[in-house]
Amino acid sequence: MSDWSREDVATLNGVGPRLREKLLRLGIQNKQQMLFHLPLRYEDRTFITPLSALQSGHRVLIQAQILSASVSYRRQGQNRRIMQLSVSDDSGFLTLRFFNFSASQQQRLQSGNWIRGYGEVRLVQGRLEMVHPEYEIINPDSPPPLNPSLTPVYPVTEGLHQLGLRKLMQQLMTQLEQHKLAETLPPEWLKQQQLPAVDEALSILHNPRTSQDVRQIQAMTHPAQQRFIIEELAAHRISLLLRKQQLQGYPCPTIPPESRLQQKLLQQLGFELTLAQQRVIKEILQDFERNTPMMRLLQGDVGCGKTVVAALACLPVIAADYQCALMAPTEILAEQHVQNFTRWFKPLGINVLSLMGADKGKTRRQKEQMIASGEAQMIVGTHALFQASVEFHALGLIIIDEQHRFGVDQRQALQKKAGENQLPHQLIMTATPIPRTLAMSMYADLDYSQIDELPPGRTPVKTSIIAESKRAELISSVAAACHKGQQIYWVCTLIDESEALQCEAAELTFIKLQQQLPGIAIGLVHGRMKAAEKEHTIQAFKQCELQLLVATTVIEVGVDVPNASIMIIENPERLGLAQIHQLRGRVGRGSVESFCLLLVKSDLSRQAASRLEVIRSHQDGFVIAEKDLEIRGAGEVLGTRQTGEASFRIVDLVRDRRWFARAQQLAELLMQSGHAQQCQRLQDNWIGKKAQYSDVG
Ligand code: ADP
Ligand code: MG
Repeated sequence: MSDWSREDVATLNGVGPRLREKLLRLGIQNKQQMLFHLPLRYEDRTFITPLSALQSGHRVLIQAQILSASVSYRRQGQNRRIMQLSVSDDSGFLTLRFFNFSASQQQRLQSGNWIRGYGEVRLVQGRLEMVHPEYEIINPDSPPPLNPSLTPVYPVTEGLHQLGLRKLMQQLMTQLEQHKLAETLPPEWLKQQQLPAVDEALSILHNPRTSQDVRQIQAMTHPAQQRFIIEELAAHRISLLLRKQQLQGYPCPTIPPESRLQQKLLQQLGFELTLAQQRVIKEILQDFERNTPMMRLLQGDVGCGKTVVAALACLPVIAADYQCALMAPTEILAEQHVQNFTRWFKPLGINVLSLMGADKGKTRRQKEQMIASGEAQMIVGTHALFQASVEFHALGLIIIDEQHRFGVDQRQALQKKAGENQLPHQLIMTATPIPRTLAMSMYADLDYSQIDELPPGRTPVKTSIIAESKRAELISSVAAACHKGQQIYWVCTLIDESEALQCEAAELTFIKLQQQLPGIAIGLVHGRMKAAEKEHTIQAFKQCELQLLVATTVIEVGVDVPNASIMIIENPERLGLAQIHQLRGRVGRGSVESFCLLLVKSDLSRQAASRLEVIRSHQDGFVIAEKDLEIRGAGEVLGTRQTGEASFRIVDLVRDRRWFARAQQLAELLMQSGHAQQCQRLQDNWIGKKAQYSDVG
């Protein structure tokens, strides 16, 4: 049986080259793709609303007689004619307005005729009106039948309107009734889960019939939707798992067990590892024993101590004569890692090298030479690490810090540095707390570790929300705190605007605070300053030469100054909760009581206020992330980069979380031998082009 659903849409009646072109713009080339072009919503044209029952804002079907019709002119442009109809049924009156109309339309819309129209009712100057209803002229004695099912509203494109697309869909639905569509999921599984077959599900979604269907569809709980949600989740998971299988087939550096260097490092740390840190290190060392490339995601809240775990992971790799590369998203953070690793590794006789964008000319050539010769064993840097001119001698382990700041392609560029046909081990760290279930779905290709414990002795950060009107008082308490020897971050945010504006705002605040706080040493860091300048200021702050540091969100990630105990954040409502949590994690690192003060405008929206309340009353990044997800949805929380990795057609990662487990079972069922064809089909249907991007080489 040939697969009719793969036929080009040009085989549908009425689809010529021009219409085909428009359908292509919607991503529709064959019938199958068109069947999966699902309605955005549905309009209820199954009943007529009497004019007396109209309410502003509702979209309704009306039927009434035209009492009068008049045309007036507006003087903008040449052809701004407005036709206004006054219509009535037995119950009331309504005004209809049309801006573009032809002579023949005008002729048909004359008084005495009956009209049936669908549109949104609006209240304009005390009168109800409907602008540009979709309409037809009818005979009131034998009106056309009402739609028995809801009218689907599809995503459309310029030049292709609802009506045209709907007609094509009807043609297609007739074909669907005649020829079955090949089922993508195992029928036994569907039966057991009480979910409809693919053709039945599509038919319901395009033409819901019962009011129960409609209610369920609108609540996104209809079995037809569940079926596709689970199917899409499973397809996504399968693509990640296939990719994992593929990557695991690659040769990787062999890392024998090592304990001498690790013991030495542990002895000189000056603290005991938490149990969570110990557990994660063990997980990493077990990965090395397996002799397939490690691909591990390490999540842990701000300040939980991921860096030292990373350092311990490097030691067996270096002992095996491989190099380790640690990539951080900002120079400030990279520089801090350079210091830590130098402090930890130098006594062990390990050569640590930094590589930043600012390294130019001769210095850069020298550094690249040291990387190429293998003299540099531990290389710490920024994006500079994956540039074309950087060649490693033998790259064994890649560590990506704060991975949400990097794109997939950047990670892959670095991965390729291990050379032809060899994959380095990879440890990917993040403090952007993604709820565990979500993380495991999005990163099914990675193994997952979590540090769920903070080092002992941390004091929780007290967070308060302070109104802008209290700024003067705030400044005097800042002065008092500085005089007591405390150190303070003052963070300026302007996240919606350009980075340049953000820096400007920080500069302004810096100047003002200098005037308002005479005698207090204030520094400034922002993204537009030279790396050396930034570094110099941060160092001065670390060494207590500065008491107050004005900064943009550049200090969000990783900066570690244990003596700083107060953070003030201006306009926190502009930031995501996870980001505020990250920022706040800069304080509360020492043993003194710490404070985070959120300085807000007085006219905060209710939603903004309730989000800040979440931050104020919670300390746990994962709880905050859960709440943030509930309030804002997955796309926002994960940021565009990550959603780019996981962009779904009908799945909403937050709304559909209850289906994760079932999708996981389905994926595993399909991955078992015997279902290879179905896996492929699912990839074709749901992942499309993205599936081809499986990397390496
Ligand atoms: P993050 O996980 O946010 O990257 P860091 O690795 O920067 O956290 O660690 C935060 C601070 O905690 C650092 O100063 C680090 O030296 C310290 N630290 C890490 N582990 C422990 C521990 N087990 N006990 C005490 N302090 C620790
Ligand atoms: Mg960190």
